[in-house]
Amino acid sequence: MAQFEDSFQRKFYYLRLSLTDVCNFKCTYCLPDGYKTEDKRPQFLSLPEIQRVVTAFANCGTSKVRLTGGEPSLRRDFSDIIHLVSSTPGIDKVAMTTNGFRLEKSAFEWRQAGLTNINVSVDSLDPRMFHQITGENKFRQVMRGIEQALAVGFSQIKVNVVLLKGLNDRQLPAFLNWIRDLPIQLRFIELMQTGEMDHFFHRHHVSGQSVYQQLQQDGWIPKVRACHDGPAKVLTHPDYQGEIGFIMPYEKDFCTSCNRLRVSAKGKLHLCLFGESGIELRDLLQHDDQQSALIERIQYGLGEKAVSHFLHDGDSGMTPHLASIGG
Ligand code: SAM
Ligand code: SF4
Repeated sequence: MAQFEDSFQRKFYYLRLSLTDVCNFKCTYCLPDGYKTEDKRPQFLSLPEIQRVVTAFANCGTSKVRLTGGEPSLRRDFSDIIHLVSSTPGIDKVAMTTNGFRLEKSAFEWRQAGLTNINVSVDSLDPRMFHQITGENKFRQVMRGIEQALAVGFSQIKVNVVLLKGLNDRQLPAFLNWIRDLPIQLRFIELMQTGEMDHFFHRHHVSGQSVYQQLQQDGWIPKVRACHDGPAKVLTHPDYQGEIGFIMPYEKDFCTSCNRLRVSAKGKLHLCLFGESGIELRDLLQHDDQQSALIERIQYGLGEKAVSHFLHDGDSGMTPHLASIGG
């Protein structure tokens, strides 16, 4: 079957699938007031619906699926979802992005179910600042989770850090020290402006480029990019086991290497994190015999994918916060 491709010859190998909008943390840049909904019983994609959407993507060239949210590990059937996705023919990587609160308890079970890669969000290595940024006093629990994940054999752990001026931007030495002897890739993510954030953005946004250049002056070396790599720029250093990746969505050409599509927890296809309302897929996820129509709708939608986002113009599309469609 034809590979998913847009009008700019970008091919899509990578699906980011949101499993829930719900989150138990209150990160200041994402859900500062915690998760709220008017919908009393939100209906997120069921196992059979997940199976159908992942099968359609796998049949059109997708080999990697990231499970995200909200907090994906809040789903009671999370291990079953990992198992289902990892056993789908064509899928060879199943990753998750998590705030890490369940990692210590469940890392082993998730690995057994077929999880291959984990990104854990840790915005500060200082417990008090971690609490201040995430609204939760769970720094030690999350760090024990990372140790446990390494102990049960996850070799591809990435730690997401949203760069925040006046907060964690002064903790670079502590982060570097941490990865000197640990095979972890830190991912510094530039703060992105979303619909529900304005004052916070102007107060705390710091360009990743300044940190990137500073590290290069300190002997960090840009890693050669492989052709399937996404938009992260990665630095390595001979004295460090860990690496540092940068996600800088405000950089020119950030979208050129886009290789990912997103499906929300309620079954909408999002062509861009900062796009408009999304394309409904759920009506085509109800029966196994709808696969051709599903693929056709995704392919048609891809024809509309824009060459780039419009963040530079202060336009973050319809995304109220990243928990809503999976960061
Ligand atoms: N709850 C999980 C977590 O926090 O890892 C998964 C979902 S979260 C939306 C995914 C990633 O997006 C996290 O690493 C988070 O730090 C990042 N994120 C959320 N809002 C952001 C924003 N406004 N700018 C940059 N990164 C953001
Ligand atoms: Fe929850 Fe993740 Fe958003 Fe933090 S960034 S509030 S953990 S969804």
